[in-house]
Amino acid sequence: MPDLDAPVHADDPTPEAYGQRAVAWLAGNAVREGDTTAYNAAALGTTAGQKAYLKQFFDAGFSGITWPKAYQGQGLSDEHQLAFNRAAADYVSPGIFGISHGMFGPTLLALGSEEQKQYWIPKMINGDHVWCQLFSEPGAGSDVAGLRTRAERDGDEWVINGQKVWTSGAQRADYGALIARTDNSVPKHNGITMFILDMKDPGVTVRPLRQASGESPFNEVFFDNVRLPADSIVGEENGGWAAAVIMLRNERISIGTSARKATRPLSYESVLTFARKVGRLSDPLVRDRMAHLYAIDTAGNLLAQRMRQEVDAGYELRARGSIAKLSGSAIIRHAYDVVDEVGGSDVIAWDKHGDDPSELNYPPITFGVVDGPGRGIGGGTNEIQRGIIGERVLGLAKDPQLDREIPFNQLRAIIPPPPTR
Ligand SMILES: Cc1cc2nc3c(=O)[nH]c(=O)nc-3n(C[C@H](O)[C@H](O)[C@H](O)COP(=O)(O)OP(=O)(O)OC[C@H]3O[C@@H](n4cnc5c(N)ncnc54)[C@H](O)[C@@H]3O)c2cc1C
Repeated sequence: MPDLDAPVHADDPTPEAYGQRAVAWLAGNAVREGDTTAYNAAALGTTAGQKAYLKQFFDAGFSGITWPKAYQGQGLSDEHQLAFNRAAADYVSPGIFGISHGMFGPTLLALGSEEQKQYWIPKMINGDHVWCQLFSEPGAGSDVAGLRTRAERDGDEWVINGQKVWTSGAQRADYGALIARTDNSVPKHNGITMFILDMKDPGVTVRPLRQASGESPFNEVFFDNVRLPADSIVGEENGGWAAAVIMLRNERISIGTSARKATRPLSYESVLTFARKVGRLSDPLVRDRMAHLYAIDTAGNLLAQRMRQEVDAGYELRARGSIAKLSGSAIIRHAYDVVDEVGGSDVIAWDKHGDDPSELNYPPITFGVVDGPGRGIGGGTNEIQRGIIGERVLGLAKDPQLDREIPFNQLRAIIPPPPTR
């Protein structure tokens, strides 16, 4: 049995001492959840404010806790991470770095060249760079391996043309992890390569997509002859599917195990406050539904917490991350039904600033109602998570995949075109 309190390096603090230092530092420097005045003062609604906020964590030794010292991480153990997570539970974490810290960073650590890790990893940890994920396309979402964005070799460079869609945070990202087709004469999974792409390149056009919530968290991204140097490939040429699988798996784990806070839209606590606000809490039907929501919300929180602890303790969740992700969207779906029972369809009249005096206007609810359904789509739909759980956790038979062995450029010949009118 390893001694979990033993420092990784002789001069490292013990996890306990590290956690105590975090408690003291956070109290003096970080923003508490729900403290909107401090949140606004720290400009956390802006990209520059979030970058500066993360830089503070980095300077104090609380960013990249388990990442190697060679890349300016802290090089500490999973137990140190756990001690920090406990200390930080009630504080706002720098939110726009989810793709670099939870998804692309681990992928680069696993597959990147030494030069890439030396250059990119420190700038992820210290907040210099924000990243986005350039995977989904208009015809390739669940079936992302069917992507059509092309990367063609021209001397020492690659030339990118095509389009991505639903790219979260593209408008504020400095760089993107792109998957593109580099060989269409082989089956679809074998002709994909992952690249690092500069989002400020003149050949990149980002167009925000407006959602029902009125916000534009994601975008369409167009590539028009964007030229990338040869060393922008992550992993092997035509080996991009393996890189994409690592990144998608990390995405599910990071969504499914992220700490669910009482202040989040459609949490049990926010639905309870809403039911009280509109005077429906004494209704037996509402109380019954609230009790059910409490039960599944608590169970979901415990599941996410247990999986997070497994990750922090160095265990591989692999496909089990899909269970936590699926349970999170099922809970939101149930909360949505309770809100519908309590407030009816009028709750959809969402007012971002809360200026509407109507008792139905309570942003954690009204925003959640329009934003909630997307939780069952982003990071892979509920149906796709069920497929993964069935095949890779329960060991059920795989879905037949008729196009798996056929060269990509021959697929059109065998799949009949849609009927014309
Ligand atoms: C909030 C949000 C953020 C996002 N952020 C990003 C991002 O940053 N980067 C990025 O690249 N993408 C992003 N996406 C896109 C997301 O990954 C895709 O929307 C998702 O994978 C589904 O793809 P699609 O929209 O093309 O739907 P489709 O794949 O066309 O699916 C349509 C329907 O068919 C079902 N279906 C499809 N295939 C199967 C199957 N094999 N078995 C059973 N049912 C199936 C689906 O479950 C769904 O109900 C985001 C999406 C959302 C909602």
